[in-house]
Amino acid sequence: MSGRTLLTEHRMEPGTGIALPVMRGQVLRISQVVGGQCADFNAFNLHDYKEHFHTGRTRHMHGMNPTTGAHLWSAPPRDRPMLTILADTCGSNDVMYPRCSAMLFDMHFGLSPHTNCHDIQAEAQRAYALTPDDVHDSFNFWMNTGIDGDGNPFIAPNRSREGDFVDLLAQIDVLAVPNVCGADVMQTSNFALKPLLVQVFEGTEEDHTHLEPNEPRFPRTQRSVSDFRQPVIKADRALVPDPGYAPEFTNVPLLTQRVPVTLDAAQAAALDDMVATGLFGTDRAEALRFAFFAWYIQTHMQGPRHFRAPAAAT
Ligand SMILES: [Zn+2]
Repeated sequence: MSGRTLLTEHRMEPGTGIALPVMRGQVLRISQVVGGQCADFNAFNLHDYKEHFHTGRTRHMHGMNPTTGAHLWSAPPRDRPMLTILADTCGSNDVMYPRCSAMLFDMHFGLSPHTNCHDIQAEAQRAYALTPDDVHDSFNFWMNTGIDGDGNPFIAPNRSREGDFVDLLAQIDVLAVPNVCGADVMQTSNFALKPLLVQVFEGTEEDHTHLEPNEPRFPRTQRSVSDFRQPVIKADRALVPDPGYAPEFTNVPLLTQRVPVTLDAAQAAALDDMVATGLFGTDRAEALRFAFFAWYIQTHMQGPRHFRAPAAAT
């Protein structure tokens, strides 16, 4: 924190949010004024709003509850870090739940009108001429969540305290849209809405050591508008077919090749043992394919592996 120059400061009162630019190398800090308050957060590329924060890729890379060191990724095909969490004094965030919306409070409790993150986000970003349809799934700071034994998500008590903060380093110029989550009848913010402080700082040299290179890390696959066959943003609402459309799908037609594999007796027996478990396919070829790719993932796959061997039902 030391050495950072404060550029902007804004106190978000309950029921409100704000859209504010954060340029590459600057640090956005969101702080608890009272404690126990969830902040929904969204971000757009400041120079191209069609590139926006993506909970899905962020979840894939950093799990359901990202904290310090995690990037906030943009959606495919841009697929790049937009912001990085430099500090997180509480470490209790969520990218599993969507933003709360007016319909939720109506459905759950018959409450309408009611404060809700979607409407707050939409109203905040209207300052930049974005529409309610441009609100995307949010990063939920200080939303304490998990998954129960039946696979269902749950919301636990908010663990943040007065003074807790998160620092977000902008990797590209973004329009950041934080808001005070409007859910007072859920446990998200311990059943009461409290203000949050938003500050933008000029980043220090130490902050900038966490900047990713400007150039894409995977230039073949982190795409920009210049790679699009359809670069024009639709301005009308109805969907009508393009009479000149001719599909060009990647690598189509796909080619496949059968690969004969010679097994010795021990290998054949090992595959037969795998098949006998009922977990790895119905014949030696399927079991071998499983064994090969399990090895390939363990030895060659970079990043989070998301691999768990099949287990017999109990
Ligand atoms: Zn909310």
